[in-house]
Amino acid sequence: MVVIGAGQAGLAGAFHLRRTGFEPERDFVVLDRAPAAGGAWQFRWPSLTYGKVHGMHALPGMELTDSDPARPSSEVIGEYFAAYEQRFDLRVRRPVEVRTVREGSGGRLLVETSDGMWSARALINATGTWGRPFWPRYPGQETFRGRQLHTAQYPGPEPFAGLRVIVVGGGASGTQHLLEIAPYAAGTTWVTRRPPVFREGPFDEEAGRAAVALVEERVRQGLPPRSVVSVTGLPLNDAIRQGLADGVLDRLPMFDRITPEGVEWNDGRRIDADVILWATGFRPAVDHLAPLRLREPGGGIRVEGTRAVADPRVHLVGYGPSASTVGANRAGRATVRDIRRLLAQETVAA
Ligand SMILES: Cc1cc2nc3c(=O)[nH]c(=O)nc-3n(C[C@H](O)[C@H](O)[C@H](O)COP(=O)(O)OP(=O)(O)OC[C@H]3O[C@@H](n4cnc5c(N)ncnc54)[C@H](O)[C@@H]3O)c2cc1C
Repeated sequence: MVVIGAGQAGLAGAFHLRRTGFEPERDFVVLDRAPAAGGAWQFRWPSLTYGKVHGMHALPGMELTDSDPARPSSEVIGEYFAAYEQRFDLRVRRPVEVRTVREGSGGRLLVETSDGMWSARALINATGTWGRPFWPRYPGQETFRGRQLHTAQYPGPEPFAGLRVIVVGGGASGTQHLLEIAPYAAGTTWVTRRPPVFREGPFDEEAGRAAVALVEERVRQGLPPRSVVSVTGLPLNDAIRQGLADGVLDRLPMFDRITPEGVEWNDGRRIDADVILWATGFRPAVDHLAPLRLREPGGGIRVEGTRAVADPRVHLVGYGPSASTVGANRAGRATVRDIRRLLAQETVAA
């Protein structure tokens, strides 16, 4: 078996494989292309401290305790994941990039990587989204004389000192970027496609279940998963309240075109800018699975639980409804149960 990705989802899957008797290196391998432990967290900007993380669920079997909320989440979670891999002896191989997965011989999958090939009876794909930042296209984008960057490249607020910055995107990243950058920048503008929806009160389990059910329904229909914020809304915390009161979170509708100096709307309004920061989210990083032809006409991969409907050997953990730290944990357990069933059927049939 091959587990691709050693983020929350991949580690949760590997933990449950181990717990149910599978041995690392003998029965399964975990491959990750990143240089260090921590999944996508290792790449997040230094000002995203652990205290600013919304609700990081611990991995199964080992709590994350005594972490300093003022430290960068990349460090806190990187160290936690490294300790976890060691404690459960998961032997993650890195950096190993999976380039493609295709049909092999004897009903097996052939996993081609930067470090050789593996032949697998089952695959847990846990590659997250960080590797596929989504950049929308707008007319004139290539003519802009300033700098354009995506959340995936966000360096923290200091480099924006004295600049006029447009932040695009109505999710948690967009609002966090604005609140951080505003005290440094010469000016900020927020544009979003839809008016943002702010959510009062705590995000309890019931709200969480309802959000997951909405994403699940889309994935069951073979549609691309939607972002979590699109179904949960933005939590109205103190920082957001302050941003609304200060005007930092006054939102404009999406502009119609980009010019060399800034952006323009069809009604004649224009704003000059030095930077456009695209906080427009990410897409599932699943291109390496293309030869298996899992995609539906709707553009998504249809999954039942975590199993790809088009190929029961492939499980997608951290995809769609399980794309949160708590979802990834649960999905890791369910996936291993499913894979055990699949392998038992194969053995009976053999
Ligand atoms: C800015 C930001 C903040 C977030 N905050 C929260 C939060 O507070 N709470 C929460 O629950 N969720 C949060 N999320 C969502 C969060 O990222 C997920 O819940 C979770 O961390 C994703 O885990 P994962 O294992 O699916 O993906 P990742 O952590 O992205 O792990 C995927 C792993 O797969 C590897 N990989 C990818 N492609 C390949 C390949 N082809 N070959 C080999 N390896 C590969 C990568 O190197 C990576 O290590 C946040 C997301 C973002 C972008």
